[in-house]
Amino acid sequence: MKKIGITTTVPIEVLLAAGYQPVDLNNVFITDPSPERLVYIAERAGFPLNCCSWIKGIYGACMEHKIDTVLCVTTGDCSNTIMLMEVLKLKEINVVPFAYPDKPDSQRMQHALQALAETLKISLDAAEQVRAELASCRRLALKLDELTWREGLVSGFENHLWLVSASDFNQDHHKYYQELQELLAQCQQRQPYPSEWLKLAYIGVPSVYGQDLYPYLENNGARVVFNEIQRQFAMPQPGDSLAEQYSNYTYPYSIYDRLKDITAELKKRHIDGVIHYVQAFCHRGIGDIIFRDVIKLPILTLEGNDDFFLTHHLKTRIEAFLDMLQRSRRRAKIVEEV
Ligand code: SF4
Repeated sequence: MKKIGITTTVPIEVLLAAGYQPVDLNNVFITDPSPERLVYIAERAGFPLNCCSWIKGIYGACMEHKIDTVLCVTTGDCSNTIMLMEVLKLKEINVVPFAYPDKPDSQRMQHALQALAETLKISLDAAEQVRAELASCRRLALKLDELTWREGLVSGFENHLWLVSASDFNQDHHKYYQELQELLAQCQQRQPYPSEWLKLAYIGVPSVYGQDLYPYLENNGARVVFNEIQRQFAMPQPGDSLAEQYSNYTYPYSIYDRLKDITAELKKRHIDGVIHYVQAFCHRGIGDIIFRDVIKLPILTLEGNDDFFLTHHLKTRIEAFLDMLQRSRRRAKIVEEV
């Protein structure tokens, strides 16, 4: 199948129905053995130092892997993507624009999907068939999520990795299904994590140092049992059609729509504290003001730029946060006993 780069989660069912293999350029960038090299490619091409590393990494990945067609989201993702799209055109890369409606509305989503299907010269019925085919992968990803928070059998990093990969199913949904099925069978044989460990939520865009972050938390008696955006990539509320599925998907819409999902899951999963990750130079960082106002739990805001590991400074802040959560839990227990 011909590859098409994607810069965020998009209706891949339409792309697959049109004979394209979606390639999530974020995943290509962050799993590269040397992601800083891909950022450097973008900086050498003229991307400013104060531009988000994900955008630069996407550009670098696109150049390095000779992707000649990219679907760019013009509404519902990131203002930087619009200028990235213009640069890609300059480099003679074929760009397919897609716009999420500005609010969740299945009728308007239907029009957006129809427009994309017409651009790619397929019918939406064909895409609906692909949706049915992908449903088993999505169900399995959500099963992994449930084993994470309900049974304590899956690590925070595994949860992150398999859910974030639902954007393109690692470029092969049959293989994804098979490998995830094997992992789930292994997980059922594991001892659960200690129930007294702190339970954390991770909200915000995936971090550039995720590979370090999750194990570091676990080495300090805390685990992530809710990865907000990653879980959304698996489409937890698929509805009855593609239009409903992508209207229920919260990421492209208002932060208040995301908060409805976040607050419900924080309660359901008995979360002790929240890590809000923000990427340097990202407009979404401003949302921290709203999260801190609405979420009635301790929040640690972590920022990342182009260090692809946890610095000592970040480690110290994480330890202090976990220590504070442990202390307040002990205090609450004493009060309860008195
Ligand atoms: S982190 Fe923010 S600025 Fe960077 S690509 Fe994502 S939404 Fe855009």
